[in-house]
Amino acid sequence: MQTYRARDVIGFEQDDEGVDVAISDGSSLRARYLVGCDGSRSIVRKTAGIEFPGSEPTMSWLIAEVEWTEEPEWGFRNDDAGTHGIGKGDAGRARMVLTERDGVPKGEPTLRDISEALIGVYGTDFGIHSPSWISRFNDTTRQAATYRAGRVLLAGDAAHIHPPLGGQGLNLGVQDAVNLGWKLAEVVKHEAPQSLLDTYQAERHPIGARVLRNTMAQVALRRPDERTKALGEYLSELFRMDEPRKRWAGEMSGLDIRYDFGEGHPLLGRRMPDLDIVASEGPLRVYSLLHRARPVLIHFGERCRFDMTPWTDRVSSIVAHYEGAWELPVLGTVAAPRAVLVRPDGHVAWVGDGTGDGLADALTTWFGPPAP
Ligand SMILES: Cc1cc2nc3c(=O)[nH]c(=O)nc-3n(C[C@H](O)[C@H](O)[C@H](O)COP(=O)(O)OP(=O)(O)OC[C@H]3O[C@@H](n4cnc5c(N)ncnc54)[C@H](O)[C@@H]3O)c2cc1C
Repeated sequence: MQTYRARDVIGFEQDDEGVDVAISDGSSLRARYLVGCDGSRSIVRKTAGIEFPGSEPTMSWLIAEVEWTEEPEWGFRNDDAGTHGIGKGDAGRARMVLTERDGVPKGEPTLRDISEALIGVYGTDFGIHSPSWISRFNDTTRQAATYRAGRVLLAGDAAHIHPPLGGQGLNLGVQDAVNLGWKLAEVVKHEAPQSLLDTYQAERHPIGARVLRNTMAQVALRRPDERTKALGEYLSELFRMDEPRKRWAGEMSGLDIRYDFGEGHPLLGRRMPDLDIVASEGPLRVYSLLHRARPVLIHFGERCRFDMTPWTDRVSSIVAHYEGAWELPVLGTVAAPRAVLVRPDGHVAWVGDGTGDGLADALTTWFGPPAP
């Protein structure tokens, strides 16, 4: 792999066989596929002509890390603009997030903006000086209309932007990349047809839309008016109950994600739990089997009757033992499967009941047809 630093992608052209990528130093690169992981202002998304529909911002926040001469008021404070927070940063500095009072200003903020915002909230700027960094963000919420245009795909903030409430953006983007990476590798190696790439859109677009929805709801709950406060208190009461709290935690962490692979065992389409299993080489964790980014078929107790020979070049298989409970996030305990086929992204593509029924189809769908 080659990393090119200090130069930008400035455009590309694609044809039936690949993509020519133009670089800012005047050079160009030829690739079979191009994945735009170039952030919210993605030149790749724009050049591909992919629409980025969504909502204009309604709120804005200043963030900064600064030195101070007068000890700040640590913690949160609410006022008629919204919630503000000051916490301890590195080397005694103060880190702050301040809700902006005057709509959604544009441009890079200055130390003076931070100082004025502090005075507006606390009546003093705590003698702040020597900022390590200053920035602002808002609640613009948008999602690419499609994550694929021919040989060009999008992942991360290039595909979706939303306010950072709940800290979900990085998780979402990394999951996009992990979902796409192994599929792209199979297509490039001609192990699977190009149509496998369409499952990237089918699986990840709804997950992105869900994050956009929950962050919009969280922004709405930040409004400082009395009715919104009442709604917030009402929701807090609901979240004292186990079920709503579990469901919310599952969504915020992304641990409840289930891709729609049809009806079946609750594990189907969900993340395989990282169980402590015992295999012929000794005790190990399931996720250690995924380090090679290859699919793995795990038989529990004994091998099911199925001839894996036509897939052994692409799919590992082991027999393992596990005696504990099968606990899934949000769902709780589920029935122990007799075998599972785990994709390289950790999602369960097939669940066995002791027979090999459906296994050939699952292997073909995800990892290509049987070798002759
Ligand atoms: C204030 C704030 C707080 C946040 N807090 C959290 C949090 O707590 N948890 C969380 O999960 N997420 C958080 N996020 C969101 C998270 O930062 C983003 O979702 C994440 O960084 C997106 O990663 P990315 O790689 O897709 O895009 P980016 O991080 O934007 O990276 C894009 C990269 O592409 C490069 N690039 C851009 N254009 C070109 C080009 N033309 N050619 C070559 N390179 C290019 C850029 O230089 C950059 O390195 C926060 C965001 C904000 C604004």
